Amino acid sequence: MNWRKSLKGKIRFRESLKNHTTFKIGGKAQFFIEPKDIHDLKLLLSLVKRYRIPIYVIGRGSNILVSDKGIKGVVLRLSAPYFKRISWKDNHLEVGSGVLLHKVILFAKDYGRSGAEFLAGIPGTVGGALAMNAGVAGGNHCIGDLVKTVTVIDFAGNIKTLRKKDIKLGYRESSLAKYIILSTCLRLVKKNKEEVKERIKEYLEFRKATQDLFWPSAGCVFRNPKGDSAGRLIDLCGLKNKRMGDACVSSKHANFILNLGRSKARDVLKLMDLVREKVKDRFNITLKPEIKIWQ
Ligand SMILES: Cc1cc2nc3c(=O)[nH]c(=O)nc-3n(C[C@H](O)[C@H](O)[C@H](O)COP(=O)(O)OP(=O)(O)OC[C@H]3O[C@@H](n4cnc5c(N)ncnc54)[C@H](O)[C@@H]3O)c2cc1C
Repeated sequence: MNWRKSLKGKIRFRESLKNHTTFKIGGKAQFFIEPKDIHDLKLLLSLVKRYRIPIYVIGRGSNILVSDKGIKGVVLRLSAPYFKRISWKDNHLEVGSGVLLHKVILFAKDYGRSGAEFLAGIPGTVGGALAMNAGVAGGNHCIGDLVKTVTVIDFAGNIKTLRKKDIKLGYRESSLAKYIILSTCLRLVKKNKEEVKERIKEYLEFRKATQDLFWPSAGCVFRNPKGDSAGRLIDLCGLKNKRMGDACVSSKHANFILNLGRSKARDVLKLMDLVREKVKDRFNITLKPEIKIWQ
């Protein structure tokens, strides 16, 4: 089928997903499509449905491990200006799913609004953060806490606006992941700009002190088991600096796997298996992945 004839947005064929993930790992996507607007997205959805083509949604690719074999089907990214709108409306922040969290925080700060500072340093988009219910360790704050409404489109092309009470939000998971998230309306509170700026700085400093930010990674690889920390368990198993090829358990934060250069997805997967096995043997706890594995 000729995508170029039908769609107005950007279409790339055999696009390397290495360039679209923070892990810098992954094979090629058969089609990498960035629709121009909602009409284009609806058209794309009708085409993939008609031709039964699998479709995957990517944001900033900061929580995904893509197989070395790549992806057969469409990888969809909502990065056109239409999906990156941000405004202050009726005392709420309205923001498109393609906007980076960093931009949301700075925008809120400029309006003297507080509540989103804990998202500072999470390198994702609004859509990815909502799908994952991103937040800070300990689960004290997550983006779901700020949500008033979320507008989504389902794979049949129906748009709906969900209120918070219609959305199931849990630790690094949300019922929104079954849709394509288009935009959200967030509740923030008034605060002095300087105070907001200071809180952002504190969150960024904490992150710098506790996370390995030099090498490419996808953040925490495993979900924390109830009442414990996956990083602590991995560390107690003596696995810091453990390597498989160029994939390496961080010496700073044992729940981070780093790509030291040319790591393949299979190296990361092997290292994850080893970590899981050691933690299971020693603590009888089965670690579950937090990252999404596309294979
Ligand atoms: C250095 C580093 C630090 C991190 N720190 C944290 C942290 O403190 N807390 C935390 O929670 N996470 C953290 N992460 C993980 C990650 O940044 C977050 O989960 C982020 O919210 C993912 O957003 P994304 O846009 O990159 O999503 P992606 O990684 O692109 O996608 C993640 C999931 O969301 C889905 N998705 C993306 N966009 C949409 C959409 N528009 N509609 C529907 N589904 C969508 C994807 O299909 C996929 O299943 C960290 C990652 C790194 C690399």
